[in-house]
Amino acid sequence: MTDVSRETDTPIMAAAAQAARVQHAREQLPRPLAPRVLTIANQKGGVGKTTTAVNLAAGLAIHGLRVLVVDLDPQGNASTALGVDRHGDVPSIYDVLLDDFALADAVQAAPGFDSLWCVPANIHLAGAEIELVSMVARESRLKRALDTFAGQFDYCFIDCPPSLGLLTVNAMVAAREVLLPIQCEYYALEGVSQLVQNVELVKAHLNPSLDVSTVLLTMYDARTRLADQVAAEVRTHFGDRVLRTVVPRSVRVSEAPGYGQTVMTYDPGSRGALAYLEAAKEVAIRGAGGHA
Ligand code: ADP
Ligand code: MG
Repeated sequence: MTDVSRETDTPIMAAAAQAARVQHAREQLPRPLAPRVLTIANQKGGVGKTTTAVNLAAGLAIHGLRVLVVDLDPQGNASTALGVDRHGDVPSIYDVLLDDFALADAVQAAPGFDSLWCVPANIHLAGAEIELVSMVARESRLKRALDTFAGQFDYCFIDCPPSLGLLTVNAMVAAREVLLPIQCEYYALEGVSQLVQNVELVKAHLNPSLDVSTVLLTMYDARTRLADQVAAEVRTHFGDRVLRTVVPRSVRVSEAPGYGQTVMTYDPGSRGALAYLEAAKEVAIRGAGGHA
């Protein structure tokens, strides 16, 4: 069995990774004509939503694009991975959604990046699904807040909780694009049709511009035939909306949040970091034509 935690330990692999990094750093990515807001949703937990949100964001920010991550999961994993303060007394997305705080007052810069910011989530958000029910314009509170901040970023990724409740609906109303991460595992497509149905409902009633623009295959393990079967099935189902880049299962990716980092800074030469860089590039290049 390959020891995936030693990805860049051989001199040849380290040199190849370094060469790929240098090439990436030199490359310019197109800046979208209008800010792109992508909601990262899949009501299954543990499929790579948060990992994808923070690492795609980091991958684009490394290229100089201005990126905002909105953490919309009470668990606050995206905030943790970006190293921002998510204590109960700092302004968070809860205050923006429920207390009319300006988004600008809740935004924090992610350490180690020049153009990456995060609106953190903390435990207060756990009650928000219920508290939102009685609010005016309860489905569009995030959109209203983001609109006030739109000139400040090129990309915004909204990291959703693993449910299709009012928080996820807010994310779908605020975005034009849904990015759907799918884990290359058993039952990968389970629940996906329900998600797509929800996207269609939001599109019909609340946000006509919404589409599932991007699908990303995550936690791919080349040693299993199952992963290939899942990948093929997803490509048949979603066609060219599936990114060519597939994110491999990599211990480095899962270790990074424990250090308050994305894998881009934790181990920039690892296979996981390179895959997310490549995926970020694909997202940027595709959007330059279609969604700008
Ligand atoms: P979600 O946000 O959908 O619940 P996460 O992004 O938190 O999913 O991922 C679930 C778990 O899998 C986390 O522990 C994360 O570190 C790990 N993980 C995600 N992507 C990878 C990967 N490519 N390789 C290894 N572990 C991963
Ligand atoms: Mg998550």
